[in-house]
Amino acid sequence: MTTDKMLKFVSRGRQMPTKRDAENRRQDFGEIYAEFTTDEAASQAGRCSQCGVPFCQVHCPLHNNIPDWLMLTAEGRLQEAYEVSSATNTFPEICGRICPQDRLCEGSCVIEQSGHGTVTIGSVEKYITDTAWEEGWVETIAPVREREESVAIIGAGPGGLAAAAKLRGKGYQVHVYDRYDRVGGLMIYGIPNFKLDKDIVQRRTKWLEDSGVQFHLNCNIGEDVSFDELREKHASILIATGVYKARDLKAPGVGLKNIVPAMTFLTASNRTGLGDTVEEFENGQLNADGKNVVVIGGGDTAMDCVRTAVRQGAKSVKCLYRRDKANMPGSMRETANAEEEGVEFVWLSAPEAFVGNDRDEVTGVRAISMRLGTPDATGRRTPKPIEGSETVHDADLVIFALGFEPEELPTLWSQPDLPVTRWGTVKVDHKTAMTAMEGVFAAGDIVRGASLVVWAIRDARDAADSMHDFIQNKLSEAQALADAQAAAE
Ligand code: FAD
Ligand code: SF4
Ligand code: SF4
Repeated sequence: MTTDKMLKFVSRGRQMPTKRDAENRRQDFGEIYAEFTTDEAASQAGRCSQCGVPFCQVHCPLHNNIPDWLMLTAEGRLQEAYEVSSATNTFPEICGRICPQDRLCEGSCVIEQSGHGTVTIGSVEKYITDTAWEEGWVETIAPVREREESVAIIGAGPGGLAAAAKLRGKGYQVHVYDRYDRVGGLMIYGIPNFKLDKDIVQRRTKWLEDSGVQFHLNCNIGEDVSFDELREKHASILIATGVYKARDLKAPGVGLKNIVPAMTFLTASNRTGLGDTVEEFENGQLNADGKNVVVIGGGDTAMDCVRTAVRQGAKSVKCLYRRDKANMPGSMRETANAEEEGVEFVWLSAPEAFVGNDRDEVTGVRAISMRLGTPDATGRRTPKPIEGSETVHDADLVIFALGFEPEELPTLWSQPDLPVTRWGTVKVDHKTAMTAMEGVFAAGDIVRGASLVVWAIRDARDAADSMHDFIQNKLSEAQALADAQAAAE
């Protein structure tokens, strides 16, 4: 039922939470958006037209019940809004911050199509759960019954953690193994603080620990513990290891010093922010301070690198991308933020070679201008070089943000039977998320390839349901066999 608090999109304009001005936010790694006030959240939620067929919900990977929690927020019933929102999303305050809403829920909001700005769905979602934390409404997971069976989750990224929460809720003994020393996967060491403050991730880690999830950190499966050992020990396994092999570039000079992969640069920055002493940061090698920085790539990772370099005090920051702005894979919102913060984008430009000095340190990137040709099989226009258009960009630090590929899990884990696609991602039955190995499931980037936090959460929640069904079926079969044997005796 729609109340008189809704459908205000004609009289009330779209408003995002206050954004810190660019000069101010260049100075630190703090988040750039403030929180809505209670009145602002209610007012913005009240713009929703309560569509009969809510396309926002259809295009949210979690099919969040958006119209309902918007209405509850507009009516000031925040605790109920939190309950509805958290029923479908394990980490609403994280998705509210870092989902590319312009491509998902908000990109499908019908009031935009009628010429009014979208409802600010992500900011309201973040507001609801941040309030729930402040008010003490977020309770630890309390299973109705404890079960003896244990499950192993390899990878403490958003996928692994979402599965851990669901399986713990069903009463399983949940063990999460990660090779890092902290929980969170790319949310802790990839995504910078100005998009997602680390306190938000660590608050969720504590929530899972308090809920009884057991973490085994600094534990590299395949090295510290074998995959076979996990199979023997646990009733079912979820592989949620993400994709970490950085795509490389073949060009003269690529081996020069101070050319680094994006994750090396971002991890050093995130670790420093978390209070670790990172030698390569301290000695300047992975610190952009005072340097001319060139980032190569046009995705979310490239945007995070350029904006981190700005905050570290770089002299200049350029982003080279071989297609144009309209064809960038990264979020338009983050690109606009980077432009505001002073990043120079060199569109339609591809590196040809890296120039160095006599100490083998990079001093420049020789790039060639491109034009967009005819579309390829995927429908994207192929960039073609324009002969004679080379330019050299000064560079003391070059960061490659060219995407990620999966590591070779069957080899690393001595599991030749673990099926992978030709891209190296783990092959699963898409209805159950189970691999061809009985009881072994997979979810997140290791199945989809580099994707989004919200998709990792969605896939892992589904996989957790399948793991539960698998274990319960196994138990029923074992019980039926035991009953038959008893009857025969
Ligand atoms: P991950 O988050 O990668 O976690 C996998 C975990 O598995 C890691 O902790 C790793 O240490 C562990 N692991 C791997 N191998 C082993 C092993 N053998 N043994 C033990 N542990 C292992 N998405 C968004 O939605 N919004 C954004 O703004 C955004 N920005 C991004 C910025 C950057 C720089 C990057 C790199 C990605 C970004 N993404 C963003 C994508 C998003 O982070 C990923 O899609 C998401 O984290 C995938 O979740 P996952 O759980 O599958 O894997
Ligand atoms: Fe939008 Fe992401 Fe929230 Fe879904 S989870 S409603 S896509 S912000
Ligand atoms: Fe509300 Fe927009 Fe969703 Fe319609 S599409 S229910 S207006 S948020």
